[in-house]
Amino acid sequence: MSSIDEVKSRIDIVELAAEAGVKLRRSGRTYTGFCPFHSNTRTPAFVIWPESGTWRCFGECNDGGDVFKFLMKKEGIDFKEALSRLAERAGVQLESYQAEKPQQKEENQRLRNLLEDAVTFYRHQLLNTPAGKPALDYLLEKRKLSPQTIETFGLGYAPHSWDATLKHFSEKNYTSQDLLDVGLLTERASDTQSTDIQSTNSQSTSPHVYDKFRNRIMIPIRDADGKITGFGGRILDPNDIPKFMNSPQTVLFDKGHLLYGLDRARKPIRAADQAVIVEGYLDVIALHQAGFENVVSPMGTALTEDQIRMLKRFTRRIVLALDPDAAGRKAVLRGLDAARASMDREQELRFDARGLLRHEARLQADLRVASMPDELDPDEIVQRNAAEWASLIAQAKPIVEHVLDTLIADKNVNDPKIKAEIAAQMLPLIEDLPNPVERDSYRQLLARRLKVDERSLTGAKPTASPVRRRRPTAEASQEQKPAAATASFSPFRKVEGACLALLLRRPDLLPHLDRRLQESSLGALSTADFEYTDHQMILRLIQQSLEQDEKDQAHYVEAHLDESLRETYTSLLAQSAPKGANANLSRNRDERLLDELTRQVLQVRQQSLNESVNQLRFILEEAQQSGDPRTTATQGQLMLQYGRMLNRLDEARRRMSDIRRE
Ligand SMILES: [Zn+2]
Repeated sequence: MSSIDEVKSRIDIVELAAEAGVKLRRSGRTYTGFCPFHSNTRTPAFVIWPESGTWRCFGECNDGGDVFKFLMKKEGIDFKEALSRLAERAGVQLESYQAEKPQQKEENQRLRNLLEDAVTFYRHQLLNTPAGKPALDYLLEKRKLSPQTIETFGLGYAPHSWDATLKHFSEKNYTSQDLLDVGLLTERASDTQSTDIQSTNSQSTSPHVYDKFRNRIMIPIRDADGKITGFGGRILDPNDIPKFMNSPQTVLFDKGHLLYGLDRARKPIRAADQAVIVEGYLDVIALHQAGFENVVSPMGTALTEDQIRMLKRFTRRIVLALDPDAAGRKAVLRGLDAARASMDREQELRFDARGLLRHEARLQADLRVASMPDELDPDEIVQRNAAEWASLIAQAKPIVEHVLDTLIADKNVNDPKIKAEIAAQMLPLIEDLPNPVERDSYRQLLARRLKVDERSLTGAKPTASPVRRRRPTAEASQEQKPAAATASFSPFRKVEGACLALLLRRPDLLPHLDRRLQESSLGALSTADFEYTDHQMILRLIQQSLEQDEKDQAHYVEAHLDESLRETYTSLLAQSAPKGANANLSRNRDERLLDELTRQVLQVRQQSLNESVNQLRFILEEAQQSGDPRTTATQGQLMLQYGRMLNRLDEARRRMSDIRRE
């Protein structure tokens, strides 16, 4: 449940309306009262559905929505403000949003321009200088990258010098502070510097700074939108350390929130409905060159929850392609050592089975591991045989299975002591899984592999690690939170979400849907079709993306998404897609998706109209009894309008089922 849904479920709309001065009277499953948004009426035309947490005015406003919309309209505030007020009231912690403030935005843009200049500078060094020749040869011959690929990924070379970058940018009127801010310079720790460095750059600027990247291949690192954030530098001289060096943490470069290659991989990931994680930037580049474009790399650290969240916008299926160093026996054992795992949290554990399983469960992702054979890097495999790469990825195993296979490999599982040892290592991992079906299946798998009776596994309690004892209680209490909810969501409101989830994946279907609706004399899909404010706002963005004539509409939506909607957006994308939603265009499949979408929209409309008509009947009777001509007239008209719409909906639905039968 997203925090927005949690707020919705915990805020009692009846209470909210009562506080706003609406006197409410219960009638069946609903409450009615005088609309707080318009006066001039003798009939209570304002209706609340406590179960779904929604309201509607059947009078002059003819408007309605959820708790957010109510507060927005009442207080004249925007969604973000309404969300934060109601979240506080509901005691729901919202994710902190890190939106760029306007002045910060300008400054960031200036720093980005500097980094783009640096891309040009380093590229020139690589392609056009004798000093860059060995780096270029390395890329072309050793890594087998084509000149086109080198160009596409903006690769460059940082000269073997303490101040080449500093000098170049000083001449372009950048200060050393600017260069420090983007991480291209390093500050000397103390004043005990070696004199040769001081003498070479003392005349240009401060002697306390020097080039961070020296004699390295420079790889620009961009965020998911293609905006530059920093660099990764790879050594040329095997004696240099470290082998890979990233920009330091800066305002732009936050390594926990970046995935190398995502700007180019986002579309392919969506199309393949799968993301593949490799360890090196040059591996990402080589794989893209070989046509495997759904590949990204974290910044030399373990995969973070934020990074999985980012990928979840495009797919829930994630494969970790790890070499034996990272996913082999040693790494697996280290990851299973719970005490150590929690101690080393800040350090960069590459394969932390527990951590990964936790992310997987919490984010409802599907994480798998593909191990690279023969100590080869992905780029070597793909150079050797592209089909081999494809088949390795296709054979990726769920995390628990990978851990089990790794522990069993080269072991004599006929030895009872070894059986017991492996069971003791595996069971805590399995018992921690939140899904009982998965737990059962893995217990069975473990029993089969160890050739023991499954009952002996469930009976034998392994020595519990501290983490194992602590976790279930903490997790359980968290999961119970939604139970305190006051409102539940009726199934047809879920259809809203399903509709929107499909449109987010395939915004291009919207004009076709609208055309179909209009052909049946039904209005195009509008925000009024949705009860939920966050859904309305996301639909509006999708509509805008089409008006902008953007090539990549999904990208437009994401780029313009307000941070307060991020969670709704992510959870919509996390919904399982109808078959083929991510696949490439195919006429038949598109027709089927469009049918599905149309059916959903018709369903949403019909149900909400039916509900409205029932309410309206009540209100109309009351208006007639109290002799309120104004309300009677408004509502008589509304009733006619609703009736006509229901007829058209009926026709449209009938026609659709006829088509299906043919
Ligand atoms: Zn009203």
